[in-house]
Amino acid sequence: MIIKEINIRKMKMTMKTPFVTGLGTFQEKDFLILEVKDELGNTGWGESVAFSTPWYSEETLGTNLHMINDFLIPIVLGKEIGHPDEVSQLFSTIRKNNMAKSAVEGAIWDLYAKRNKMTLGHALGGKQDKIEVGISIGIHENMADLVGTVRGFIKEGYKRIKVKIKPGHDIEVLRELRRNFPDVPLMADANSAYTLDDIELLKQLDEFNLTMIEQPLASDDIIDHATLQKQLKTAICLDESIHSLEDTRKAIELGSTQVINVKIGRVGGLTEAKKIHDYCMEKNIPVWCGGMLESGIGRAHNIALTTLPNFILPGDTAGSSRYWEKDIISPEVIVEDGYITVPTAYGIGYEPDCEAMDSYTVEYTQFKAY
Ligand code: MG
Repeated sequence: MIIKEINIRKMKMTMKTPFVTGLGTFQEKDFLILEVKDELGNTGWGESVAFSTPWYSEETLGTNLHMINDFLIPIVLGKEIGHPDEVSQLFSTIRKNNMAKSAVEGAIWDLYAKRNKMTLGHALGGKQDKIEVGISIGIHENMADLVGTVRGFIKEGYKRIKVKIKPGHDIEVLRELRRNFPDVPLMADANSAYTLDDIELLKQLDEFNLTMIEQPLASDDIIDHATLQKQLKTAICLDESIHSLEDTRKAIELGSTQVINVKIGRVGGLTEAKKIHDYCMEKNIPVWCGGMLESGIGRAHNIALTTLPNFILPGDTAGSSRYWEKDIISPEVIVEDGYITVPTAYGIGYEPDCEAMDSYTVEYTQFKAY
């Protein structure tokens, strides 16, 4: 296929409720949507999951826009591409900037699947026709509010509950949740809020029978996590520390992690995500798909990836209505009794809702190959 046209939309959407982590509060979501067209008029869609500020990683919407405009589009525009796996190879001359790469690569994967009349899940080698989903809940200062929120999501059928923790907002929160919900699969995400000095506190988490603790230590660490894992019964799951198959291999060899949270944007795209999935499967390390508060386009990519067989733990891909009054895809992502039925239409399986998409677009840039 020849990449004939790439359109970038700068989007602004407002989340229904603010999402609070140990590092910041979000309600406005500014992000990029990419539209890629081939010579036959097929269209693929991708999303940059970078946030507008560098709290999660060093990438932002601004850095992504720069990388995509000035470096990535010139590499693929007008180029003949046989298979989307070639894209990560083409981008390998550019260091890091994984979310920017992933936005372009994801749109090309969708394009490839549509052109070959298959679902994106099938194009990746996935087989599951429905996926189990969990929910990620931000920090609530009021405990009764949190318990009420969790109760609501359990009633909706979500398969596991993940709560954000930070120093001063950890043991008591988890104790109260366990008191109210003794049997629900529960996990905690620290977003790197602790250090090895907190080891005694972190050991206390073992009493809550958590399915895992996600990224307790520094976002660039795999050494201290190995030290911590030796002293914890609770499985550690790495998120921020994993950017590639190589990071995955090293973390597993060191014993730093027993579970991997795969985020397509963080690892540079679907090709690398699939490699990480395959390696973890070989090593008996379960994986799940994390979320970046995506719009429907990014959400659809997550669903397709989750159809691969080693995604055996529920991911963070909640339904559209969890975050948005109106999503930019049709139909919206719907969760029923904790499951999403994988769409069977070609590519990502959801159509962009052009009217909604236009209403959230604040800037539009077009690149054409002649
Ligand atoms: Mg996380």
